[in-house]
Amino acid sequence: MTAQPVVGVLALQGDVREHAAALTECDVRVQPVRRAEELAGLQGIVLPGGESTTMSRLLATFELLEPLKARIADGLPAYGSCAGMIMLATKVLDGRPDQHQLDGIDMIVRRNAFGRQVDSFEEDLELTGVEGGPLHAVFIRAPWVESVSPEVEVLATVPETETAGAAAGRIVAVRQRSVLATAFHPELTGDGRVHRLFTEMVRAS
Ligand code: GLN
Repeated sequence: MTAQPVVGVLALQGDVREHAAALTECDVRVQPVRRAEELAGLQGIVLPGGESTTMSRLLATFELLEPLKARIADGLPAYGSCAGMIMLATKVLDGRPDQHQLDGIDMIVRRNAFGRQVDSFEEDLELTGVEGGPLHAVFIRAPWVESVSPEVEVLATVPETETAGAAAGRIVAVRQRSVLATAFHPELTGDGRVHRLFTEMVRAS
């Protein structure tokens, strides 16, 4: 592997620029991905936050869905935040019937799970694999994970505080093999630790 791994950011919709900026801080080369050919040289890929139904539709339109799914099945390290987490799941509840899944993590997520009570929710979380104290997590019409298969490692849950309401105890960060997903948006808070965790996974794979 080269000194600087190439990490793609799916650039069809969503907070592409924010992920690219966070990745650049981790000493990787960032490649925006809009076409299947752009998957070829990647050592990892980030699926941004945004709107999973729109991104899913654009993946099909741009003929990226099957090639990307195949690369992930083949072991390409991937990280999805929020809408990206939804797309990486094997199953989504409250999704659209025509929404496509990338099957990167064997889990069931509930779309807009936080959004029914409040549009946005913030909480400090401990994340397994991330040192240096709790991480400030920002959830924007975010999913949570309803259930995971035994192969999936749970990295973070919402603490059982009074303000957490129905979100208390819910799974919000997971990893299976070299696929990572968070329901929250570290790309928006300027805390690079989740991107560093992912780029370490990329370097190790
Ligand atoms: N609610 C969005 C969806 O269903 C996700 C929101 C986000 O990425 N901030 O895709």
